[in-house]
Amino acid sequence: MRREVRWERMFPDELEAAFNTCPAVYFTYGLCEPHGPQNAVGLDALKAHAIACRAAQTHGGIVAPPDYWHIHEHGMYANWAFRNVGEVRSWLTAMPAWQHFKNVCYHVRAADALGFHAAIFLTGHYGPNWQDLKTLLTLIQPHFAMRLYGLPDFEANTPGFDRQGNGGDHAGRVETSLLWALEPDCVDMSRMPAADAPGRHFAMGANAAESDRRVGERMVADEVEWLGKKMRELLETYAQQDISERRSVTFEQVEHIWGKIVLPQLKTFKTMQNSDEPPPEDSQWFRQWKIPDAM
Ligand SMILES: [Zn+2]
Repeated sequence: MRREVRWERMFPDELEAAFNTCPAVYFTYGLCEPHGPQNAVGLDALKAHAIACRAAQTHGGIVAPPDYWHIHEHGMYANWAFRNVGEVRSWLTAMPAWQHFKNVCYHVRAADALGFHAAIFLTGHYGPNWQDLKTLLTLIQPHFAMRLYGLPDFEANTPGFDRQGNGGDHAGRVETSLLWALEPDCVDMSRMPAADAPGRHFAMGANAAESDRRVGERMVADEVEWLGKKMRELLETYAQQDISERRSVTFEQVEHIWGKIVLPQLKTFKTMQNSDEPPPEDSQWFRQWKIPDAM
């Protein structure tokens, strides 16, 4: 039987034992979003959570309840949806960037207050949100003893990855293969459209037909190895800190950090830009496109 690592499904004694062995936690992010007719819509978080679970089973740590609400509908995400989703019902579980990143601050606080030494924040949803996640964690790290690291799952699967690098795909060969390996019930290749069928196919990637469950297994193994190594680095960094006076951060202090440290930088976040032209006014993706001036 596999060791349970999912926080919400563990008993208190199991949590204490897992914590005492390895005081590390994974947070995972994604949303329900069009991912082609062949993938369950929750692909991004299903993928990130399942990878984190395998990493914790292999290397230790606890996996926090997954967050299925993520950035979409504004800025370049609206432009992307106009091009790749079109005017169908999207089944998105979207929220704006400023809400998502504030939630992440509270996730950090909860784990830090419980005494975790290290936390990895893994987003299975792409676009530029992962770059902002790194920026956010860098901004707030000085206020927490727990060591923080944020990444898109493809960083753990991309040799030579750099911060500007792009990788992964959207509901193409990579994501479909990964989900097939991790959650086989959530991929159904019999739902693939005919090769010559016209249309956007619910944002399916062009090379989805090349998906291969065994390739997915190999990518998962690479990511699990990478995450285990990164978590050990974070735990070592924590051990080298002077933590004689570790005090938990309060809700009020989170609000202060958000207001004084993050908010002044928020306008520079990549997810907060309207760099393209808006979608046409008669598109469902027009209305939310513009980032409110007040943010
Ligand atoms: Zn995805």
